[in-house]
Amino acid sequence: MSGSSSMEQFEPPGNLARDYLCEVIEEPNSHPESSDWKWQLRNRITSFEVIRKLIKLTPEEKEGFKRSNGRLAMAITPYFFSLIDRNDPNCPIRKQAIPRTEEFRVSPEELVDPCGEDSHSPAAGLVHRYPDRVLLLVTDSCAMYCRYCTRNRIVGVEKPPMGPGQFEEALRYIRADKNIRDVLISGGDPLMLTTPHLEQYIKRLRAIPHIDILRIGTRVPVALPMRVDEELAAMLKKYHPLYISIHFSHPKEITPQVKRACEMLADSGIPLGSQTVLLKGINDKPAIMKKLVQKLLRIRVRPYYLYQCDLACGTAHFRTPISTGLNIIEKLRGHTTGYAVPTFVIDAPGGGGKIPIGPEYVVSRQDGKITLKNYEGKIFEYVEAPDE
Ligand SMILES: *Cc1c(COP(=O)(O)O)cnc(C)c1O
Ligand code: SF4
Repeated sequence: MSGSSSMEQFEPPGNLARDYLCEVIEEPNSHPESSDWKWQLRNRITSFEVIRKLIKLTPEEKEGFKRSNGRLAMAITPYFFSLIDRNDPNCPIRKQAIPRTEEFRVSPEELVDPCGEDSHSPAAGLVHRYPDRVLLLVTDSCAMYCRYCTRNRIVGVEKPPMGPGQFEEALRYIRADKNIRDVLISGGDPLMLTTPHLEQYIKRLRAIPHIDILRIGTRVPVALPMRVDEELAAMLKKYHPLYISIHFSHPKEITPQVKRACEMLADSGIPLGSQTVLLKGINDKPAIMKKLVQKLLRIRVRPYYLYQCDLACGTAHFRTPISTGLNIIEKLRGHTTGYAVPTFVIDAPGGGGKIPIGPEYVVSRQDGKITLKNYEGKIFEYVEAPDE
């Protein structure tokens, strides 16, 4: 399960003639090769030399490249790049993918490991923070690198994925603790592994009797939707109950290709949830978030978490005040389908786990009565049963 089974993603990026890449980005329909995910990965945009020919960079972006040695790598699939509005320096897709000089500013409150994952790691690549579930980080590679990534300390190096020795060690730990009933496979992005390679991991985990559910956390259906093919769907289907959480940021990301990918997964019986990081200037307006969550339900993805942006190094320009998220939830709850409303959480710095926060609907609670405010701001009273 190493070496030959996970080759494609570690090939050096291609050096396509710039005119050809431009043409594919502008006219994907006349270039059938671009619907091949391996082509997309081989031809990811990873250098200043290539990107500056494809888009007019802003001074902040140019400066970002000049200084970018040592920081999170850039990689953008031609597909994801094609969603950028190249005339708009504030395009939400562009801001997620192209480095800017602000990334090199580290604020005092920022942390290298913002969620305390390393200190809750009983084996390499394994994070055990909650009693009954673990997070397994199988690779550090992603189809594209999000500039706000909370794991920017580890992703983007594109080392080979977790090797057999390391996986066996994680497996031994999971086998030995019968309280673990849920394994969340993440990274990086697990769908960057080839299907047979990923199956090796899933099969071994599924064989543990006390594991109830498996989960995959991924952004591939958004950044590289063509990766979701019949082979992958048929493989995953064999290992139910299996859930997938997909990382979405903006309604522009929901394209016909993404719809096809999500429908294929849903048709394989996989419940799909979304995870979204609240990002300044990208999705921090209630109208944008409402459009996103409603479009998600249309492609059969149930909004799951909205994350307050973690205190990862160099991400201050993406962070909003907490009130921004609370206001968004207030504008969703009651105003649209309950299924469309995610839980707003802060992943507590230092490793406290995800803590939900929400608008206050309880006005007061006294004398056996609770006074509540509804979504329209109207006041209601409910008489409680007496304490036992
Ligand atoms: C997010 C996370 C989980 C899963 O949390 P749920 O609330 O069950 O989705 C598990 N382990 C770690 C370390 C996490 O960060
Ligand atoms: S896909 Fe996830 S792990 Fe990868 S760069 Fe984006 S946020 Fe980080």
